[in-house]
Amino acid sequence: MEEKKELLSLDKQELEALLGELGEPRYRAGQIFPQLHRGISPDEMTNIGRATRERLAKVAFYHLPLVRKKLVSALDGTIKYLFELADGHCVESVLMHYEHGTTICISSQVGCAMGCKFCASTIGGKVRNLTAGELVGQVIAAAKDSGERIGGIVMMGIGEPLDNFDNVVKFLQLVNHAEGQNIGYRHISLSTCGLVDRIDRLAALSLPITLSISLHAADDETRSAIMPVNSRYNIAALLDACRRYYAKTGRRISFEYTLIAGKNDAPEAAKRLALLLNRSLRTRTETMPIHVNLIPVNEVAETGFQRADKRAVSRFCAVLEENGIRATVRRRLGSDINASCGQLRRAELAADEAAKNQ
Ligand code: SAH
Repeated sequence: MEEKKELLSLDKQELEALLGELGEPRYRAGQIFPQLHRGISPDEMTNIGRATRERLAKVAFYHLPLVRKKLVSALDGTIKYLFELADGHCVESVLMHYEHGTTICISSQVGCAMGCKFCASTIGGKVRNLTAGELVGQVIAAAKDSGERIGGIVMMGIGEPLDNFDNVVKFLQLVNHAEGQNIGYRHISLSTCGLVDRIDRLAALSLPITLSISLHAADDETRSAIMPVNSRYNIAALLDACRRYYAKTGRRISFEYTLIAGKNDAPEAAKRLALLLNRSLRTRTETMPIHVNLIPVNEVAETGFQRADKRAVSRFCAVLEENGIRATVRRRLGSDINASCGQLRRAELAADEAAKNQ
């Protein structure tokens, strides 16, 4: 028997085709698609007849990520979800409240293969990619549970989005669909550790999303020591790709720089970073808008890295500004619920293991 199709992974044309195969009229997709993307399962659709629902259930399934855990910050209302997928694996999503609206941070894979030394998400390696339906499902499930209208998305949760390229691109189209979540590309950021070939593939699609580059160091020796991906694509290759991305899309690129005490937080490192960005991305004919987000590292027990102290952080920021690079220190939302991704899933895995061993 053929495997059942995941309804949330289908775009509207694919849903039309599937319904067509079941002998349903085309307009049925127009009734079903918007409801699926509001978190309504076919069983709950009152305007769809029982016979249709039964035919559909034979060939396709609908699964929204289930809320396995939910933590709400007493400080700023940030909500962190541990979502359970259809096969029992878990990922994390975080709802953040800003003056301009609510943004969700979503995961792109179960685990991660990239091996960054400071990161909790990669400790157990990559388990699998999320499907497009599971990607959009996080947005739908969080909107449904919280009752909030989600206006923006950052792909900065567990996983490397560009290592799950096809599903991520399909997700972007699904979540942007006018009859779905209808979230504008300009309100979506994708963060990558620097898979250069995939950055080029993304640029070729000319989607006006914001690209965030996890840089974290201004020289190859330091970067390779904390990010294995740098041995494959070094800093020069990565910044070349950034230049091509900007030339193709005209979209500003932001750089993430995680400050780790004693590793990359010295004023000289800030100077080197400013020089690097100015020299590589700003020529006489082209002045690419650049923004650096500084993030004091979240301490993860397994990694042993320590967060740069407050003075080092503001010093680092000041040196960048003095050298013409706009920089901000990322406000820590949900610090009381450990809202940065990867750690809740690990804690849950450890609890599962402990329960199994009892
Ligand atoms: N794989 C993608 C997206 C996920 S990580 C990427 O690498 O960009 C989102 C951001 O959080 C990245 O900039 C990542 O480097 C950073 N990050 C990971 N672990 C961190 C930690 N312990 N403290 C602070 N930032 C961290």
